[in-house]
Amino acid sequence: MALSDDIDRILISEDDLQARVAELGNEISALYSDEDCPLLVSVLKGSFIFLADLTRHIDVRHEVDFMVTSSYGAATESSGVVRILLDLESSVEGRHVMIVEDIVDTGYTLEYITRNMRTRGPASLRVCTLLSKPTRREVDVQLDIIGFEVPDEFVVGYGLDYAEHYRNLRFVGVLKQQVYARS
Ligand code: 5GP
Repeated sequence: MALSDDIDRILISEDDLQARVAELGNEISALYSDEDCPLLVSVLKGSFIFLADLTRHIDVRHEVDFMVTSSYGAATESSGVVRILLDLESSVEGRHVMIVEDIVDTGYTLEYITRNMRTRGPASLRVCTLLSKPTRREVDVQLDIIGFEVPDEFVVGYGLDYAEHYRNLRFVGVLKQQVYARS
């Protein structure tokens, strides 16, 4: 059975994703046009495809680095407990840092990461997220750049998974209910 057969409906098409990511790249280039080599911090695994496309639309010198935080596992609800499983290679002190997230849901993950980053003394700290679910927010987090706002539904594709699958879909969509019943 094809992977796409598990999709109930497409929320954001491949074309809309590509067009918006190009716009975000331009916004980021303008934001950092006068800054010395900003560091884009990609929060894995969900943001790997977004970051790969985004970085190619940024027209100023920058570096990328990666961190892995604990995720929901196979569940679709946040536990509110966040841990860093893999840390950055780069030092953040004195750097202009932009965190690149796949999705901000309750906000707990981002709140934890930004609090942690601030203790490292960056020159500035901004956040770019591809997706935001504003109606789900439980903690107040500052988002400088948002790709799309999405409704309160569990989404997959373009890097986002369910139980480690569906990350490779070229669009963002919602799974059929039977998929959850199957696992
Ligand atoms: P938060 O801590 O804001 O509740 O959740 C952040 C993390 O939860 C995201 O980085 C992502 O890994 C996961 N997450 C939240 N909502 C969704 C969703 O709709 N789909 C997927 N695949 N992951 C989600």
